[in-house]
Amino acid sequence: MKYITSGESYIEIECTSCKKRHIVQEANYSEKRYGYELKPAVKCSCGDGIAVQIEVNKKSSGSKSLIIIIVFLPLIIFAAIVIQALLRSLS
Ligand SMILES: [Zn+2]
Repeated sequence: MKYITSGESYIEIECTSCKKRHIVQEANYSEKRYGYELKPAVKCSCGDGIAVQIEVNKKSSGSKSLIIIIVFLPLIIFAAIVIQALLRSLS
């Protein structure tokens, strides 16, 4: 099984042998450092795919935080300029 996507309260995984997709509800998995642990294990109807652990490539979340920095950095600089100007007008 391989990781496809995740939503608010579910993850979607795909059977590597028959490409069938499975939705796992929040109650049936827990987040781990490597990805997700499935409880109970997800078994595919084709009989080949069984998943207990799903590894997730965490690199994508790294680029997400980079985007956040790029978006918020100008805002932080702008706020600093405004605060400086306010302090100057007070003194
Ligand atoms: Zn399958």
